[in-house]
Amino acid sequence: MLVLLSLWRRRSTRRAARPGGDGCCRPVRCRGRRHVPERSRRCRRRGRRQQHRPPGPVVATDTVDRSRPGGAAVRLTDHVTLVASGAAGFDLSDPLDCHAYLVRGSRRSVLVDAGAGRSVHSILRNAGTEPDHLLLTHGHADHAGGAAALAEHLPGLRVLAGAAAVRWIAEGDEEGLSVDKGRAAGVYPDDYAFRPCPRVEPVADGTEIDLGGGVVLRAVATPGHADGHTCYHLRTPAYRALFSGDCVFTGGRISLQNLHDCRVPEYAASLTRLAALDVDALFPGHHEVSLARAGRHLAAARDTVARGLMPRSTT
Ligand SMILES: [Zn+2]
Repeated sequence: MLVLLSLWRRRSTRRAARPGGDGCCRPVRCRGRRHVPERSRRCRRRGRRQQHRPPGPVVATDTVDRSRPGGAAVRLTDHVTLVASGAAGFDLSDPLDCHAYLVRGSRRSVLVDAGAGRSVHSILRNAGTEPDHLLLTHGHADHAGGAAALAEHLPGLRVLAGAAAVRWIAEGDEEGLSVDKGRAAGVYPDDYAFRPCPRVEPVADGTEIDLGGGVVLRAVATPGHADGHTCYHLRTPAYRALFSGDCVFTGGRISLQNLHDCRVPEYAASLTRLAALDVDALFPGHHEVSLARAGRHLAAARDTVARGLMPRSTT
């Protein structure tokens, strides 16, 4: 991922340095806000490849800092920075961590997911600001295990999660959160413990959090992977995105697990619901991110469900 990002930056720099940029090629036409053609086109005059990129999600690697151990952040768009990511991602932080994102508006910022709790200092350092909300996608320890420590370090932090998972997170109920199953399966080490986070509050479906500057997050209830699972839909003036937790990944993949609260009918309904959202970028809880045309990932999952099947699971 990082290699691809830096390659793209080098190409962009070269294009920008050239007078007129891609001026030898006829500009790709866009219909309104949507930029429909996204694939490379062969430049007729010079035979070079012309890349068209939408103005929404902007890749900027200048915030990548690998000079500090564990201290890497990847700015994904104007508003979204990846501040933690574990072994099922980009190895920016503790291996147990999910992707944790910082989302900035003009007035405030929030974190989406907290990681497993062993990278809290790294997350705070990478954030470079004090978020006032932590939005949990669900209670599994790789996403919510760091909530208690973050709340300790940020006294004003509001921690929100889907109502069905609130008690488990508040009490550190390892059976409710399936930490016991994960430990038995070797996913979590024997000495791992989920720290209770009594400060957690329920977030209702449709709740909006205005970060300023036209940047708004909206909670979308998406049970199925786990009870209380919630995605967060991001609106900005330039693009829309979805923080999808463990509900859906690139390629329309999902995460089905033999856990007490993993429920197929609810999962299928959630996937169908998500596909109706207007989305340019997809920021899931693990694996790849998608910076353009992300609706295709949601449509792939929906289409599989419509055939009476469940999409391929990453777990
Ligand atoms: Zn999960």
